[in-house]
Amino acid sequence: MITTVLPTYNRAPLTFHKGEGSWLIEQDGRRFLDLGAGIGVNALGHAHPALVSALKHQAENLWHTSNLYNIPQQQALADKLVENTFADTVFFTNSGTEACELAVKMCRRHFHDAGAPERTDIITFEGSFHGRSSAGISAAGSEKMTKGFGPLLPGFKHLPWNDMAALEAAIDDETAAIMLEPVQGEGGIRPLPDENLKQIRALCDTHGLLLILDEVQCGMGRTGRLFAHEWAGITPDIMMVAKGIGGGFPLGAVLATESAASAMTAGTHGSTYGGNPLACAVGSAVMDIVADPGFLDDVRKRAGLLRQKLEGLVASHPEVFDSLRGSGLMLGLKCRALNMDVVNAGYGAGVITVPAADNVIRLLPPLNISEDEITEALIRLEKAADSVAKAGT
Ligand SMILES: *Cc1c(COP(=O)(O)O)cnc(C)c1O
Repeated sequence: MITTVLPTYNRAPLTFHKGEGSWLIEQDGRRFLDLGAGIGVNALGHAHPALVSALKHQAENLWHTSNLYNIPQQQALADKLVENTFADTVFFTNSGTEACELAVKMCRRHFHDAGAPERTDIITFEGSFHGRSSAGISAAGSEKMTKGFGPLLPGFKHLPWNDMAALEAAIDDETAAIMLEPVQGEGGIRPLPDENLKQIRALCDTHGLLLILDEVQCGMGRTGRLFAHEWAGITPDIMMVAKGIGGGFPLGAVLATESAASAMTAGTHGSTYGGNPLACAVGSAVMDIVADPGFLDDVRKRAGLLRQKLEGLVASHPEVFDSLRGSGLMLGLKCRALNMDVVNAGYGAGVITVPAADNVIRLLPPLNISEDEITEALIRLEKAADSVAKAGT
């Protein structure tokens, strides 16, 4: 008999009762160091006082009005995002995949209104993840996500990841955009080298294409810059954001330049919940903390410490780990053992990690994890690795 909750997830046998900063706690008091942060969502850990206070304050005043009226919390957050990024304008969604939907629509409408309606194709890459909507799975294109869900949305061209020659060869008169994650998340924490992102920006300029970046996972301070593309010194035309921006409250956004967005006039897009007062009040509190240059400095310091310790872990457990990769506090341990065995051993040792494709385990701790917690995390990861190594011999 089917379960009352549609059984689309393989859930770990863990039930958390409370979250405190970088810790998740079960009913019986067992504490887990959370290096998953709800898959990069709890950017400031659990129950951060500034977020709790923003949410409570808004909850006591006004939850929802719809986008038929002005929403000052939305305006305030849009202003902060515009002030701190390449963007001229922002649309709020409730999730990453809704941001993908709008990015695709905005891109196509842009070329439609620019007198080039034949330009509909968006180049995407193997290993990418853009969410589970029809546009999202069509964009990513993997068998795992698309099987049985056809007919898919047409107009996506899937290329191998980080193959610049294949990319150049694939651009033709119908190409509208190149869409990618600067650091692939679900695909196994695979960063695109800065040089190649620069080259892709240049290709877009040469051919009149839009560059659409999916920073749903790698954005909002995750790599030690507010957005990952800043490392390459380039800017996109359209960017998808979600996960960390709400700190745990469902919130996403599409950021765009005026030129890319100018065809999106009144009536062309909408969302009942998107940008509602509760979500935007929390998002604003997240932005106030994460966009601060001093905070981002600290993220880079913490990332340096974690990386250094993880390199030691890989070196001391060559039978379990192959290598370390990633950027900032978005790190992946490519495993030699089965990645799920390492994740499960982590549960036993009281540390939460997240599996990804390519036999990787992902570490996406809260951006404000302390140095002591990083030290404790490594003790627990060592313990997990020891138990995997022992089971394997
Ligand atoms: C999680 C994720 C999405 C989808 O976000 P949802 O909020 O689950 O719809 C899209 N793109 C990337 C890169 C993601 O990591």
